[in-house]
Amino acid sequence: MHRERVSENVYWFQSEVYAQVTAGVVAGPQWAIVIDTLALPEETLAIRDFVEHDIGIQVRYVVNTHYHADHSWGNCFFPGATIIAHALCRDLLAERGAPALDTARKQNPAFRQVKIVLPHLTFNQGTLTLRVGKKNLTIMPAPGHSPDGIAVLVEEDRVLFAGDAFMPLPYVVDGDAEEIAASIKKIGRMGLENIIQGHGDIILRGEIDAAVKENLNYLANIRKVAKTAVRRRASQEFLDENHVEMAGKSRVYLGGLAEELHRRNLRALLRQEKETTKK
Ligand SMILES: [Zn+2]
Repeated sequence: MHRERVSENVYWFQSEVYAQVTAGVVAGPQWAIVIDTLALPEETLAIRDFVEHDIGIQVRYVVNTHYHADHSWGNCFFPGATIIAHALCRDLLAERGAPALDTARKQNPAFRQVKIVLPHLTFNQGTLTLRVGKKNLTIMPAPGHSPDGIAVLVEEDRVLFAGDAFMPLPYVVDGDAEEIAASIKKIGRMGLENIIQGHGDIILRGEIDAAVKENLNYLANIRKVAKTAVRRRASQEFLDENHVEMAGKSRVYLGGLAEELHRRNLRALLRQEKETTKK
């Protein structure tokens, strides 16, 4: 696992095991807040170890930026903490968490340690603020990757933990392309020092405009491809010919997962297009 200090008392973690997924810690003098847990128990436990032993404080809050396994299944490793999320995150995790965990346990015995812990403190509109030491955190909706997406802004540092609303390749299979484009545009206007993406590397101030543009361009591109595909008889073949580079993205993104995620995006958008044309 990579670890970096982003600013004073703000840390970033990135998995070397699963899709470059990230997590964060904001530390105060007495306690810390963890933003997202990682995909595998050992990685989340390494974050806990860092907070408890290297910094020497306990974790009081855990934020789940959304309900997906790679961001929320480590909740159980912070039994004393209050879990914060969007109200929809609680609903979705309650509905889909247990069956998904059953499947995961069959594939990887490490997940036998995991228990689904539902968020304790939720909100469904507006923002939530939390003061950690000298830092003010604003927790706000950032939907589109999934309906329950939220982001955490460290006000003093202009550092945004964006969750999967911002990724090297926007991924909309469980979300909505229009909604994620709105979230990305909003993030682009926030005057940030850093964007901490839910997956991938930290985006620095000078790189933000280009990253926003590239992601919006990608979304416009795949929506156009899906619209064209729906009008063709061989729509699936048409989609299969469209590679991720044609939509302005590199296939090496996300540890080589980019092409696969791109395919799934296109299939999901084609399904949605077919639904709308039927109506
Ligand atoms: Zn994710």
